[in-house]
Amino acid sequence: MNEPAPPRRVYVAGLSHETNSFSPMPTAIRNFEQDVCYRPTDPARREPALAFPGYGDAVSVVRDHGDLVIEGPFFWTQPSGPMPIALYESLCGDILSGLAAAGPVDMVVLNLHGAMMARGLSDCEGDLLARMRAQLGWAVPVGALLDLHGNVSPRMIESGAILIGVKEYPHIDYRERAEELYRVLCDMAAGAAHPVTTLLPVPVLSLQGTTEQPMRGLVDDLQQYERLDGILSVTLMHGFPWADGEHTGASVLVVSDGDREGAVLALAEEIASRFTDIVAGQPVERLGVTQAVDEALATSPGSGPVMIADSSDNPGGGAACDSTFLLQELVKRDVRNVAVGMIWDPQAATLAADAGVGACLPIRIGGKVGPMSGDPIDLDVEVLNVRSDARQRVFSDEPNDPLGLAVLLRAGGIEIVVNSHRQQVFSTECFSEMGVDLAAKSLVVVKSSQHFRASFDRLSRRTIYCDGPGTLTTDLEHLPYRSLGVTRRGAMFAVDRPVMASRFPKAGSNS
Ligand SMILES: [Zn+2]
Repeated sequence: MNEPAPPRRVYVAGLSHETNSFSPMPTAIRNFEQDVCYRPTDPARREPALAFPGYGDAVSVVRDHGDLVIEGPFFWTQPSGPMPIALYESLCGDILSGLAAAGPVDMVVLNLHGAMMARGLSDCEGDLLARMRAQLGWAVPVGALLDLHGNVSPRMIESGAILIGVKEYPHIDYRERAEELYRVLCDMAAGAAHPVTTLLPVPVLSLQGTTEQPMRGLVDDLQQYERLDGILSVTLMHGFPWADGEHTGASVLVVSDGDREGAVLALAEEIASRFTDIVAGQPVERLGVTQAVDEALATSPGSGPVMIADSSDNPGGGAACDSTFLLQELVKRDVRNVAVGMIWDPQAATLAADAGVGACLPIRIGGKVGPMSGDPIDLDVEVLNVRSDARQRVFSDEPNDPLGLAVLLRAGGIEIVVNSHRQQVFSTECFSEMGVDLAAKSLVVVKSSQHFRASFDRLSRRTIYCDGPGTLTTDLEHLPYRSLGVTRRGAMFAVDRPVMASRFPKAGSNS
């Protein structure tokens, strides 16, 4: 009888930041410490790391295979501006020194983003992966989970890392992608697969949800493509248009078993062409502030609220989360039976909490952080609720993401959630935990672009995407790009650069 194979030793770590070059929010160690800043020497910070999609999923997938997880650091903070280079060096250094301290490992699984930038370093993931490879040598398989909003560089694949991004936006498929990645790494470690990664940049900038057609069909087909002979994984990276770097844009990543040059390139080109056609067809209508409210009010009655996604002020893409454009419009029109959330304004939240439940007070909300946030709004409000223990769900069964100090304010027919912990609305708990009866509302405005749909779609009647002024405007032509040449081509935005596929390992090499 064969002895069972001993468990493999797998180092799991991560550094994930979606960097917005135009964000008014700086990125400091304080931000990571408020969100996720886990070093295994500090077990008190372990729970938020394990609850975070990607890192926690990777840890549990490795364990489920009966292998030994050697936990390395994991760092994540809300999207914001480029971090100081010293901060990047310090966090990257923690991951590399954790790997050195781990002793011999059989595999490495990382949770990265793909759109991380430091001041003076526009391709942090490429740098981190290259340094890891230099330290580790070429014998150990390395894999990284990416957010589909990452901008993939040739340097990233030249590190020999297997890169697999989530396919869904909302990003509900981290667990499945972690399993996919681990399968490839295990086959690679066992010599049962010889992965070759092909990267085909697609010079298109856009924001595409995957909940509706035609994107839904393309995502479903990605999984069909993976059934083709010799294809191990197919990722369509949408890219992150607000990171102003040399490699910003969409891309297709195909991991094949062995170099199947022509066939893989043809597949990548087919996916790229389908994606470009979808973007050019502009399936998502994005309305200005006035038109979005017009459209919401004109929606025929039915059960559940109409949703307006205040996409341009989504902190999940690096915006401040305190713009007032939609709130001003709703107040001006005296719209009733509305909920708005969550506006990030720690000062207003503290004032209202100090006044206490039942208090009526004049208060100034929002419009404080940057020129893209509009003016503050002065309202007479009643404090309906104060909580410091409310949490929302981030694609999880249990609420795991603290809202900080949160207050529910009523001004006329509008209920407003204001909180102290800057974050986008992922789940209905942002309102229901505060006592808002969402099902009874006729209109709900959320600071989010798309992730909220994973939780709200079962409740809402309709979703309207609003593209008001703000850091995350999709009117890319007017953003002050420096590294990218952005042009409008017909209905879509494109970057000016030739498209050439990179493949690793190169044909004929045997690394
Ligand atoms: Zn994303």
